[in-house]
Amino acid sequence: MRVEEARRIVEGEAKTLDPLEIRVEESLGYVLGEDIAAPIPLPIFDNSAMDGYAIRSEDTLGAKEGNPISFRIIGESRTGNPFLGKVGPFEAVGIGTGAQIPEGADAVIEIEEVEVVGETIRVRNNVERWRNVRMRGEEIAEKDVVLRKGELMTPGKIALLSALGIERIWVTRKPDVSIVVTGEEVVPPGIPLPPGRIYDSNTPFLSSSLLEMGIKPRSVRLVGDSEEDIREAIEEAIEGSDLLIITGGVSVGKTDLVKYILEERLGARRLIWRVRQRPGHPFYFATLDGKPVFGLPGNPAAVAVCFYLYLYPFLNKMRGAEGGLREARAILLERFKKKAGLAYFPRVKIEGVGEGLRATPLRWQGSNMIASIAYADGMAYIPEELETVDPGTEVDLFLFPSYFLKAR
Ligand code: AMP
Ligand code: MG
Repeated sequence: MRVEEARRIVEGEAKTLDPLEIRVEESLGYVLGEDIAAPIPLPIFDNSAMDGYAIRSEDTLGAKEGNPISFRIIGESRTGNPFLGKVGPFEAVGIGTGAQIPEGADAVIEIEEVEVVGETIRVRNNVERWRNVRMRGEEIAEKDVVLRKGELMTPGKIALLSALGIERIWVTRKPDVSIVVTGEEVVPPGIPLPPGRIYDSNTPFLSSSLLEMGIKPRSVRLVGDSEEDIREAIEEAIEGSDLLIITGGVSVGKTDLVKYILEERLGARRLIWRVRQRPGHPFYFATLDGKPVFGLPGNPAAVAVCFYLYLYPFLNKMRGAEGGLREARAILLERFKKKAGLAYFPRVKIEGVGEGLRATPLRWQGSNMIASIAYADGMAYIPEELETVDPGTEVDLFLFPSYFLKAR
């Protein structure tokens, strides 16, 4: 099966989950399930942009260096403690930044611009109307739609809704994802490595990739290669989950029992097995009790590439968003050779921004190699038919999420 066809089949199975009402504070990483209109304007009242004095601008007419005009200080408007009276002719109210403009006033003269003499201030310049006044609703008008269904909640959006006094919103539920990692050889980091064993890197990759999408994995389980253990782990994992990820055991080796267990023992329906791609050729996709099951080949680079190609868009759709990894085009800086008949996804380093991206394939392209995933900014997509891609050729790229969070 071609990659495009496999992606289409996977996408066809993705269903957006039900809406859920949650607290705005807890909405990070959720996708909005409704349009949100502002229940109040921002700012909610006219307020001062400066520390100074609120006055009536018309009273400053004719004020100049040789002709100061005096205003009587009648009170103070401080943040949280507005002045409740009215400002009359040649009266001033001391005011702080963000404090409410008192009734009658239509300008704030900066503290640095006046001379305070006892209970009066002297003004030596003409102050125009609305000077230093932030008007009610100038940022957001009441009933404006501020966020739309389908937008991802971010810290800034959480702050905006909070400033509008909104406490609860409708979002799309996040998927409950369970992970089963097979392989007798796989050992969690933190214990000494017995002979012939290797440390598990797939669980950490998948768990943290889910977390990067704002999805906390529901359960993670390491099992060996025994039929009984795998079957039990799958049964347990699928219960109460929306989606199951299994790594390892989907190839053609003697210990690769996952397909057999899923189909012959548990009644799963196979939709995909083997895609003309590298890494990730043995990729497997099925449904079990109507729930999607992703079988990723155990090699770490295959896990990553399959996650980005198939799982990322699938999970995105489930949580109410659209699309997969961001795509771009880049000039390949080094020759890349491959077998015809398989699409390749070499992991690349990316330089440049915007239109002028340049990509260099990393040194570690073996599907067993983790370094390429660790150091990559994205992966190129080299179609099946090609055998050699010459330097200077433009290629399609998938940008990894980490590309947008680069610390250097
Ligand atoms: P499999 O798909 O089970 O045949 O595994 C393919 C290769 O990936 C084998 O060499 C495994 O040792 C390796 N592998 C499987 N699972 C993991 C894992 N969790 N972490 C690192 N390597 C793994
Ligand atoms: Mg295995």
